[in-house]
Amino acid sequence: MTPAKPTERSKSLSSDTAFIMAQNLWLKILIGMALGVIIGLLLSPESVYLFGTENAFKLKECCVLLDKETAFKVGEWFALPGVMFLGLIQMVIIPLVTCSIILGITDSGSMAFLKHMGMRIVPYFIMTTVIAITIGICFVNITQPGFGIDQDMVTTAIESGAANDRLPQKNFQDLTIPQRIGNVVPSNLAKAELDRNMLQIVIAAILAGIALLSLPGKAGKPILDLCVAGQILTMKIISWAMLLAPYAVFGLLCNITIRIGLDALISVGLYMITVLIGLGCMMCVYLLIVAFFTNIKLKDFMAGIRGVQLLAFSTSSSGATMPFSIQAAEENLKIKPEISRFIIPLGATINMDGTALYQAVAAVFLCQVFGVDLSLTDTILLLLTTVGASIGTPATPGVGIAVLATILVGIGVPPEGIGLIIGVDRILDMCRTTVNVTGDLTATAVMQKWVPLKRVALP
Ligand code: ASP
Repeated sequence: MTPAKPTERSKSLSSDTAFIMAQNLWLKILIGMALGVIIGLLLSPESVYLFGTENAFKLKECCVLLDKETAFKVGEWFALPGVMFLGLIQMVIIPLVTCSIILGITDSGSMAFLKHMGMRIVPYFIMTTVIAITIGICFVNITQPGFGIDQDMVTTAIESGAANDRLPQKNFQDLTIPQRIGNVVPSNLAKAELDRNMLQIVIAAILAGIALLSLPGKAGKPILDLCVAGQILTMKIISWAMLLAPYAVFGLLCNITIRIGLDALISVGLYMITVLIGLGCMMCVYLLIVAFFTNIKLKDFMAGIRGVQLLAFSTSSSGATMPFSIQAAEENLKIKPEISRFIIPLGATINMDGTALYQAVAAVFLCQVFGVDLSLTDTILLLLTTVGASIGTPATPGVGIAVLATILVGIGVPPEGIGLIIGVDRILDMCRTTVNVTGDLTATAVMQKWVPLKRVALP
């Protein structure tokens, strides 16, 4: 069964990519980030404490531009484009992911092929996620960024309330493990969408895709046409949202810096460096995988995915980047559409190595801050929980940290602790999303070699 008007789909995606690329977003975003931090620091009532509490009182009289209440209000206004940007991406992410997964499965052409690919890609995704988490846990145990963090600062960061809207729903921790596993199948699709339960949505989309694939003749064509239109439409909205991205980054960073202050940002510097080195290492792992397990030359791979990496960095959303990744895979890496259109939408939602690595580092860091000892069993449990958590993390900006809060509950760390690391989350989100997207593209290159396309009977 072929979805309607594939050429219109690719034409529309190409024009959206060209439009976004022409904006030089990554540069504007970097400028927005720098300005956000600088202006946030100038306006933050907390920054003066950097010079010691005694001097702070003197400095407060001459240097603090705004009192706490006014500064927080100004920060909220600055954050407005960011709130709208996140709202736009979150608004379209569920239809985009659903349509793309359904189209990815139907584009693959046959159940036999899906089975072949599924049996290889799922263990591959799990294996790379475990590698990422292991890298994260090793680094954070070597650098130990959580020891020596000033407890007053922890209290200030928690009390600033910066993390309040990312805290987990109260009832999550009440579920038993069988209940959590049973929950994977959505008994109520509307509720799954309302709760933004990405794993349930992915499962529903996979089922719908497989069902459509097994329908006789053209019975499913209206739904496929709807999915094609849905994908084009959501991408159009994303390309408009992208114009807001530099202002969004500026405002969100400025707001968070005003609330937290330079002192808190500097104190988590080592933690930030640990995450970044870990992510860099994961990138090297991908390059090794490409060099040893694919037929693509490293140079071509890196050149072919550069544009998509910049997009992932700019949007902090693997979901929003997904259609562009498919395009880059097919046009630049010459990956067969049956592979790229199935693996990338699936990978964008369930294969998040960058997020998993970040969540592992952040969890161990906060354990160190709060003096929670992790035994070997706890560490293995953390590894398993993080694999599950990264699978369930929606492919949208800033959610990795919200899901991290639920991991923390499981290991006995107060989830409010994320207040300490939320100030640097934006930049880490951009970097981990770039790794997430690179991981999906690497997977397509590996599957191109591993999945015997010719031996599978396509209808
Ligand atoms: N922003 C990430 C992504 O879309 C998810 C996260 O917050 O870690 O891949």
